[in-house]
Amino acid sequence: MDEKQKKQFKEAVHKEMKIIRTEIPRLEKQCEPIAPDASLGRLTRMDNIVNQSVAKKQLSNLKTRLRKLEEALRDVDEDEDFGRCVECDEPIPMARLLAMPETRLCVDCAE
Ligand SMILES: [Zn+2]
Repeated sequence: MDEKQKKQFKEAVHKEMKIIRTEIPRLEKQCEPIAPDASLGRLTRMDNIVNQSVAKKQLSNLKTRLRKLEEALRDVDEDEDFGRCVECDEPIPMARLLAMPETRLCVDCAE
């Protein structure tokens, strides 16, 4: 990966991390337990339980994604083979790296 590609990759990763970092507190708020004495009707309460489980799932997905992006950001500087397939040594396309920052295989070798 040349310097220009590294810069491009890092910019895209930073941009996504910024979005995730504003999204996480929003979801965490949604996951906060509902006060038992809250004056909510039964249906509203059930809605909240469903919404919370969706929010919890999204939250855990986002945290995993954030961790992968952080790792990729470190690897792009520290690992000179970053962005290169460990099997065939071909460069991994940028779009694939951004979609799966943890990947070390090109599409062909991953299959
Ligand atoms: Zn390959």
